[in-house]
Amino acid sequence: MHKLAPRIHPAVRSLLTRGDLLGSFGTPANVVFPQVFKENVESFRETLARYPVASRLFYAHKVNQSTSFVRAAAEAGIGIDVASVGELHHAVAAGFDSERIEATGPKGAAFLWELTRTGATVNVDNHWELTEVARVAHQAVPVLLRLCPSRGRTSRFGTAESGMPALLDTILDHREVLDLRGFSFHLDTNDLKEKVAAIDACLRLFESAYARGLSPRVLDIGGGFRQVFAADPDGFDRYVQALKAGLAGTAESLSWEGNTFGYRDLRGTPTFHRYANTATGTDQLREILDSPLPGQGGRPVAQVLLENMIELWLEPGKALADQAGVTVTGVEFTKTVGNEETLVSLDVSRDRICPADQEVMLDPVVIYRADPRTYDDQPVGVYFGGNLCLERDLVYEHKTWLERLPKPGDLVVFVNTAAYQMDLSAAEGLMHPRTPKVAAVESDGEFRIQAESGRDECSTPTSPN
Ligand SMILES: *Cc1c(COP(=O)(O)O)cnc(C)c1O
Repeated sequence: MHKLAPRIHPAVRSLLTRGDLLGSFGTPANVVFPQVFKENVESFRETLARYPVASRLFYAHKVNQSTSFVRAAAEAGIGIDVASVGELHHAVAAGFDSERIEATGPKGAAFLWELTRTGATVNVDNHWELTEVARVAHQAVPVLLRLCPSRGRTSRFGTAESGMPALLDTILDHREVLDLRGFSFHLDTNDLKEKVAAIDACLRLFESAYARGLSPRVLDIGGGFRQVFAADPDGFDRYVQALKAGLAGTAESLSWEGNTFGYRDLRGTPTFHRYANTATGTDQLREILDSPLPGQGGRPVAQVLLENMIELWLEPGKALADQAGVTVTGVEFTKTVGNEETLVSLDVSRDRICPADQEVMLDPVVIYRADPRTYDDQPVGVYFGGNLCLERDLVYEHKTWLERLPKPGDLVVFVNTAAYQMDLSAAEGLMHPRTPKVAAVESDGEFRIQAESGRDECSTPTSPN
């Protein structure tokens, strides 16, 4: 039995002991925990408070559509980073004022038009966006310029350092409507060196802006702070070894139809995330702030920001949603398939569990609800099948070991699905409805369950002028 034990927040664990309550939501269902979200906000705040640097947090909304997360962010007094018109409306409906809203991502003309009307900060991706903002703005619009840091892999986002002088010129040409607040980047990497190099590059941009008489004050280092998924990092490593042994043919296969998960000749990089990670998002933040900057005489990031009175902005998404949601699914049936493997067929599809088709390497929690005497009490290795009528719809393509085979009506709960998993389903395929969502708030072991209004509330119409 090779286990992939997930880390589970105590509030989540407490709900998992309440099979009756979990079952009452119907399946599949997404449950979010706004109190866990708030704890994550607090831990970022505590970390930032250790440094004498002015700073602001913006929750990157795109990780989850939850209204209760957006409200929790509003109540906590942090800002929000929106990446679509829907997210902008959602934030405004939750009470964010324009000073606390920042917009990132690729923005079309309609989104830019609305942003210039609300007064939110526009984190400008490219020269076209900047000229479009200048063209449609009636009043000064705060802008950040997003750098595309030079590194091995090319990103489609931001403007290269070489393209920045043209953007600064445009700002000078339209000073009455373009208010340069500062510079930004966002790297979806855990590589500290790349982030430090990007900060160095941004500081060069501050210099060139000062030289042109501009006075930027904000450095936005984006998101990309990590989550901690596994309860047992060694167990994860052991599973991967067993998976490789299965691929080499020296042990039982743990992968469906020989899926290699990106391992070539047992080397190569797996297509799944590094689930053995133990560094939290705030550990990473401290590492960044303490890092020496080669371009600044080796002085640490926090000190350089303080000396230059630059305000630090962060856009954490997944790190704020870490541990703050689960997806409850139901067993429809089990069967033995042609290759003698055991299939547990669930009422959910792969794309509602696995983000962007990346295999999630965490055991779900099974809640056995039938009479205990009716189960065959022996461990079993299973594959979870999805509910789409498509051959490829296996929820997991790796084998999961369970204490016993579940029965129809038992619950299979995937934990830590709030970030990019529960709401990033690419397709509402084959006429299956959207997964409903509720928020669970615990106090003294009891749960208050609130319906999430979700998408409807996102689309509050605003009238064009
Ligand atoms: C997605 C995104 C984030 C959030 O990233 P996480 O990895 O979830 O922290 C922040 N900023 C920008 C610009 C993004 O696109």
